[in-house]
Amino acid sequence: MNDQTQVRQRTRAPGGGIQTVATQTQQTTAAPRQRDTSWGYAGDQGEQAMQREIQRQEKLREEAANRVYQPWRFYLKAGEAADLIVLDEGCNWSIYEHQLGRVDAQSGKTIYDVYEPCPKELEPVCPICVSDKESAYVLFLTVIDMRQVTSQRNGKVYPFTKKLLAIKGRDQPFFYRQWKQRGTLRGLHLLMTRDTKNDSRIGKPEVVAQYDDAQILQEFGGPAVVAQQGPRQGQVIKQENEDCYPADYGMIFTRPSAEAIRKKYPHLAGVGAMGSAATNAAPATAQAPGIQPQAQPQGTDAPPAAGIQAQAPAQNAGAQAGSGIQPRVSGNVDNGAGGGDLDDDIPF
Ligand SMILES: [Zn+2]
Repeated sequence: MNDQTQVRQRTRAPGGGIQTVATQTQQTTAAPRQRDTSWGYAGDQGEQAMQREIQRQEKLREEAANRVYQPWRFYLKAGEAADLIVLDEGCNWSIYEHQLGRVDAQSGKTIYDVYEPCPKELEPVCPICVSDKESAYVLFLTVIDMRQVTSQRNGKVYPFTKKLLAIKGRDQPFFYRQWKQRGTLRGLHLLMTRDTKNDSRIGKPEVVAQYDDAQILQEFGGPAVVAQQGPRQGQVIKQENEDCYPADYGMIFTRPSAEAIRKKYPHLAGVGAMGSAATNAAPATAQAPGIQPQAQPQGTDAPPAAGIQAQAPAQNAGAQAGSGIQPRVSGNVDNGAGGGDLDDDIPF
């Protein structure tokens, strides 16, 4: 029992047996408790606060219903391999992007899984580039990761998942070469292997085969999915055969602006702003961990809200019906659905 509790008991039960003990404690460590209602709401103010809170909750619900999630990003741990099927026809989405760190509340480790598109080619100054680290040029493809995933949240088994393959500089020429040689990347079956921690997080690609549209539809197609609960209840949250087609990059990526970045990261508020001395003398922030998003950033692979299955269990009928698509390696993604990059702390 701590001192504060004892003093409170004395206040509540004057004359009781506790009083003696509490008074003794108070004499040595605590001031007498003062009545204080200045920090709560009463009457009209209480009603106004209630209205504000209702509006805030409504806004949050609306935001949740309109939020656009990016598919999870594909990565391998050292020693892992995985079969991927490319869904894009060509290399049609490359951007400059920052990869930022955040401190994971549970493990205390810094995890580099906050992605922020960089406006340096659109505006004179990117606040992150001048205060932290330059952005990287990233080519995106949408792929099917053929490893099975068991959701830690609901125990469901997903025979495959649609993911973003984020390809950085040194790994990009391979994909352009394949595109030019084959005319299309769609249906390309790649075996990705990562030997060591120092290798690229997506591993090294090796061509296994290339499939046609019919095979892709047979293996990864499925009916539309309607949300049964949550903010999008009743809405179609996954289109028919959605896993067979690349992500809509123009929808899932938001055009960056220096202003939006300054708003989202208050410690960058003055960096590169018009008429600000900080343009020339940006505060030396820490490494990436110094950048902490205030709210769930849009660029993060956010897990789906409760009740929404971003990745519905697939039918996977093709495995029996003979689509001809067979993975070279078998295995599960052992970090669970949406596990993200939790135990891979290498920024690349
Ligand atoms: Zn930048």
